[in-house]
Amino acid sequence: MCAFRYQRVTIPEDPGEVRAADFEEILHAYSKEEAVLEAQRCLQCAMPFCVQACPITQDCRGYISLIAQQKFDEAAQLTVQDNPLATVLCKTCYHYCEEDCVMGGKGTPIAIRHLKRAALEFGNGQLMYVPSAPKNQRIAVVGGGPAGIMAAWELCLRGYSVTIYEAEPFMGGQIDTIPKYHLTGDELDWDLARLRGLDLTFVLGQTAGVNFTPESLLKDGYLAVYVAIGASEPRRLGIPGEHLPGVFAALPFLLAMNKGPEGLFGRKERQVVVVGGGDVAFDAARSSLRLAKDGQVTIVYRKAREEMPAGAEEVSESTGEGLHFLFNRAPVRILGRGQVEGIVVQASAAGPPDARGRPTAVLVPGTEETLPCDTVIVAAGETANVAELPAELDFKLSPQPWPEGKGPEGVTDVEGVFASGGKSVVYAMAAGTRAAEAIDVFVAKKTGRRPTPRPDPFGRPVPPRLPEGYGGPTWHF
Ligand SMILES: Cc1cc2nc3c(=O)[nH]c(=O)nc-3n(C[C@H](O)[C@H](O)[C@H](O)COP(=O)(O)OP(=O)(O)OC[C@H]3O[C@@H](n4cnc5c(N)ncnc54)[C@H](O)[C@@H]3O)c2cc1C
Ligand code: SF4
Ligand code: SF4
Repeated sequence: MCAFRYQRVTIPEDPGEVRAADFEEILHAYSKEEAVLEAQRCLQCAMPFCVQACPITQDCRGYISLIAQQKFDEAAQLTVQDNPLATVLCKTCYHYCEEDCVMGGKGTPIAIRHLKRAALEFGNGQLMYVPSAPKNQRIAVVGGGPAGIMAAWELCLRGYSVTIYEAEPFMGGQIDTIPKYHLTGDELDWDLARLRGLDLTFVLGQTAGVNFTPESLLKDGYLAVYVAIGASEPRRLGIPGEHLPGVFAALPFLLAMNKGPEGLFGRKERQVVVVGGGDVAFDAARSSLRLAKDGQVTIVYRKAREEMPAGAEEVSESTGEGLHFLFNRAPVRILGRGQVEGIVVQASAAGPPDARGRPTAVLVPGTEETLPCDTVIVAAGETANVAELPAELDFKLSPQPWPEGKGPEGVTDVEGVFASGGKSVVYAMAAGTRAAEAIDVFVAKKTGRRPTPRPDPFGRPVPPRLPEGYGGPTWHF
């Protein structure tokens, strides 16, 4: 392996003005030659910090080595071996592995996520997962997002019969809200296709708290229930005018954008104000820009630019696309008669830290100004809707916004019910793995057998993966 090229092979990317014109993917795949060249930069560390930093301990060192040897089929197979959502993640993962790659010390880290994409683009990863001998034991999963899918995969591989109950008429959870310039929309289908050999049933359009409860599933004969319902209930600003037509919550807006944007804006030219400074605000603003391309899109954030919680990649990617920004401004009220006509904002300054020590923003009197606009998108965060779920479950909803039980396994106060989620696709998957392992231990104990380690997903003997001395994944909270 070559240890001398410290800079990564450039990832092909459209320039800002080109990409803002439509929803086409921004990042393009490496060619085979570029992928091999980039993979050959990897030092193949004896102690791979990259694997350790990945929440699902994806054997990235392994697939990089195979790409360096031009063994794309083997690389693709290794990629999907420990990652049932590899096609989704090869384009959307926040690549925690790259943060810890030793090459980052002297140059740029290996493009681990983009090489996963190369493995899947040039190799055949469309294999079918093989379940172990059936246990004839049923487990229910509530929520068809990445946490639920991962838990179901883990449990099915161990021989359980799993049913996923999902409120929406489609699977994927928040993956479905990721804009098409990041994820074309087919990737989840490719990943789900690999699950078709497993004893897994999707029941769509069924909502916990409305059509059933976790406890009713236990009464129906499921031995355990994993609640993985995420956080998709938009938080409101609580200001006058928020109910006017033309005001959207970011998540339903992004979902509509992916499922059929026709009619969302009605006419082309729009003046859009997006309130918020996180990744979701950027997704909503950048999507609006593509839909209302002759109009103007402004992000209004109540703190300074440097304090925006949006990821650096999201911010730098948006540069050159034509977004406008207004920092240190908080929304006060939305104006309009029958339709949004403007939003009043007020200057905000740094206030005292809140109970958790985080800086707050306070309004500066006499600084109100009106921004004319016809659309306001509110990206003020999300929480989970647990109002209809039994209080006995005693979910923890803080500091994270999704319902969680206690400890890493997510044990709730109702025996046999587990709950968790995650701040990104891969973290949600890791939570799903921990819940599945806890469920397996719980059921094994109940039925007097030993817990089952994850078998090889393709039905072969399990190959050794990690080097001696490996200390388990590092967690980035
Ligand atoms: C706009 C946007 C862009 C994002 N971009 C990225 C990205 O690029 N990379 C990344 O890694 N992460 C990204 N994320 C975050 C990531 O999608 C989430 O962290 C992840 O999906 C959480 O997974 P989950 O399974 O815990 O919950 P969810 O994905 O929210 O899935 C929960 C599922 O449960 C269902 N449900 C809810 N209530 C009920 C009920 N009562 N009964 C039955 N079903 C129910 C929901 O419909 C949903 O399908 C993004 C999120 C958003 C909103
Ligand atoms: S899943 Fe994400 S963190 Fe893990 S190896 Fe792939 S890109 Fe890195
Ligand atoms: S840490 Fe970086 S250089 Fe080392 S094995 Fe992982 S990807 Fe390769």
